[in-house]
Amino acid sequence: MSFLSRNFTSLTPYVPGEQPKSTKKIIKLNTNESPYPPVDEVSKSVAEKALYLNLYSDPECTLLRNELAKALGVSPGNVLPVNGSDEILYFAFMAFCDDDHPIAFPDISYGFYPIFAKVNRIPAHIIPLKNDFSINYKDYCGLNENIVIANPNAPTGLMLTLDEIEEIVKTNPNNVVIIDEAYVDFGGTSAVPLTKKYKNLLVTQTFSKSRSMAGARLGMGIGSEELICDLNTIRNSFNPYNVNAMTQAAGIITLNNGDYYTENCKKIIEAREYTYSELLKLGYKVLPSFANFLFVGKENINGETFYRYMKEHDIIVRYLPGPRTSDYVRVSIGTLEEMQTFIQCAAEMTKEI
Ligand SMILES: *Cc1c(COP(=O)(O)O)cnc(C)c1O
Repeated sequence: MSFLSRNFTSLTPYVPGEQPKSTKKIIKLNTNESPYPPVDEVSKSVAEKALYLNLYSDPECTLLRNELAKALGVSPGNVLPVNGSDEILYFAFMAFCDDDHPIAFPDISYGFYPIFAKVNRIPAHIIPLKNDFSINYKDYCGLNENIVIANPNAPTGLMLTLDEIEEIVKTNPNNVVIIDEAYVDFGGTSAVPLTKKYKNLLVTQTFSKSRSMAGARLGMGIGSEELICDLNTIRNSFNPYNVNAMTQAAGIITLNNGDYYTENCKKIIEAREYTYSELLKLGYKVLPSFANFLFVGKENINGETFYRYMKEHDIIVRYLPGPRTSDYVRVSIGTLEEMQTFIQCAAEMTKEI
């Protein structure tokens, strides 16, 4: 017998990428984490904070929020730090969507969007990508619905220009447009400056990918004071201590060491471009990417076979079941050395299969 509310009996939850527990040396290219550790001072500040874990964290994240605002060129009232950007996305769905305010997003995008809609019983308007996997931004202009778009998009790595984003925001003045910038630091252009001009634009970012803090859970929303205030109402009706003290401290240190992370992004972009051109030479299908992953396929090898072959060779990539994605895998970009091993394995796979 199940006690689950009938509201949730048909819910299919998100399946996170595997986090292998074995000590065997594997190359983990499945969850878009950074291959580089946080800057050294992060562990020191986390250890210091741990001495005061008897106390609640600052519910307003005052110091972190100020530093974030400075880094983003906005005011502290325009930023809301949260427990990973998944949380701000969830809050935004809750805050701004209902039966009369559905949410629109592409058919191939972040797997959480349809789940967040379902769990909140929000009607989802799913708009197919073009055949080349790009977003036709005109599909979203004057839609009169709330909209969420990952830019760059996942798992494709393709992106819209800032002008196209602005057109979407401008032509939906009575709706909230959420731009999910989880991957913006790998070659995208941020829409944060547009938040000063448009009250209906919410930009979300995360420390999980480019800032080596996936395990600490830190993300943020950036937008007009009105949007941030509404999101704060939801947050304070859920968990005012959503960002723990150690994560707040780690976030500040991370922001103060921007050069280290910029350098890491540069290395990841170089490794991505190397991987992209080598895959093309080997006859793979691969989309040009502005993120820290590649969307890769091979004639006559489906995504699941690709995934299994790599796994047998101690490389984990992400297989994406679904009508339009099952011929592909998503390959996160690791260090150049890891990508060289991946390319060797990809070369062998074409001979063996
Ligand atoms: C990884 C990811 C996020 C969420 O990351 P958090 O770890 O929750 O900050 C959000 N959107 C997209 C598209 C992502 O790939």
